[in-house]
Amino acid sequence: MEPKTLWETAKKEIADKISQASFETWFGDTAGTKLDGEQLIIEVPNEFIKSGLTRRYRDLITSVLTDLTGKELELHIITSGRPSSISATPTRLSKEEINSFQTKDVSGELHLKKEYIFENFIRGKNNQLAFAAAMAVAKSPGEIYNPLFIHGNVGLGKTHLLQAIGNYLADHGHYNVIYTSSERFTIEMIDAIQRDRTAAFRNKYRVTDVLLIDDVHFLKDKEGTQEELFHTFNELYQRNRQIVLSSDRSPRELTYLQDRLVSRFRWGLVADIQPPNFETRVAILKHKARQNGLEIKDEILNMIATRVASNIRALEGALLRVVAQMGLQNGEIDTQTVEDLLPEEEERVLNTAAIKEEVSRFYGVSIADLEGESRKEGITHPRHIAIYLSRELTDSSFPEIGREFGDRAHTTIMHSYKTTKKLLKEIPLFQTETEEIRENLLTKFKKLSSD
Ligand code: ADP
Ligand code: MG
Repeated sequence: MEPKTLWETAKKEIADKISQASFETWFGDTAGTKLDGEQLIIEVPNEFIKSGLTRRYRDLITSVLTDLTGKELELHIITSGRPSSISATPTRLSKEEINSFQTKDVSGELHLKKEYIFENFIRGKNNQLAFAAAMAVAKSPGEIYNPLFIHGNVGLGKTHLLQAIGNYLADHGHYNVIYTSSERFTIEMIDAIQRDRTAAFRNKYRVTDVLLIDDVHFLKDKEGTQEELFHTFNELYQRNRQIVLSSDRSPRELTYLQDRLVSRFRWGLVADIQPPNFETRVAILKHKARQNGLEIKDEILNMIATRVASNIRALEGALLRVVAQMGLQNGEIDTQTVEDLLPEEEERVLNTAAIKEEVSRFYGVSIADLEGESRKEGITHPRHIAIYLSRELTDSSFPEIGREFGDRAHTTIMHSYKTTKKLLKEIPLFQTETEEIRENLLTKFKKLSSD
């Protein structure tokens, strides 16, 4: 097979296995350039992507390639224009690598997913206002609601609506539109500063007609990025350019961002999205089933909608599990089986155990290792992240977390938390990883704590 075809096929498989944002971030600009015996050479745009692919996705890539070719291919990742023979292994980051994350080319923009259009968005009481406002903004950018601020919990359709605006504008009219997440915006800004390219960075964001910024809650602790966004906001606003923002909490609850920035978020329209009611959940399931050409009985869809109430991404996940099960049973399934397949939401509480499980899955280390004594970098890093997230996402105290991590002293846990917090500010790749784990957790589990 041609290396190009092989890699494109592999990418399709990989796209099905990881989140869209991750896929765009890490695989978007990669190309298969050479198949040299047992060795596949992949070209990527920069060191940042190279290290991310190596650290996070090497095993996944290798296994997909083996499935496709029936051979154990060796993977060599090179950066364009500057071939390097370093093969992909290190899990431990050297100072040079850390620096390289911050000095190589990183584009802040993300691509739009073509399914995220208004036609695929089911309206209900829960999202009526947000939907109507997004539609109005798409039809007359900069003229009606500016900014538009959409907030709601994870998995309720914020990204879908933001991208629907982008997709609509791409099809109608000649607007210059940027869709990005606050996370990507941050990474790109740090990169621009390090390479003395802040003018180009600013210019790009300040001349756009429409700026769609997803997940602004992510700007917590990022003073510099908040400052930059503040100026970008002012510039765009003064020239009647459309700004749309999303967040997992309302402006009132964004107490940890700069007041002057948050007050601007409220200048236009603030629209929330609530969890959908039963009828809307069934309508969404019907739409998804139809979209995928699946025939599923109403009683089955109703049962899924009963089991999964708070999150549409989880609802889609549940539908997939049911469909997979049907596949094993000649397309047949009964409500009892669906009930057994989908645990009650109350049972899925976001606690330290859930966090350890997700972190263990994400980094491919065992839970025993997370709790254990090993000082290997490949294990201490996931452990620190698990401790950090336990503190951020649950109500557990430092001593309680210590008990969950092999009876460590609370001072050890506190120290780990603080160090990790600092590290996350400094290394965009770690932020990206942690944010992805957090989002996975919030999709699967119910958060008990107030913050
Ligand atoms: P958020 O950004 O709020 O976390 P997303 O926009 O990523 O949530 O939505 C999660 C999934 O649920 C996506 O696949 C999206 O298409 C789907 N979804 C959300 N709201 C709706 C809706 N009202 N109708 C159809 N699908 C929806
Ligand atoms: Mg989102």
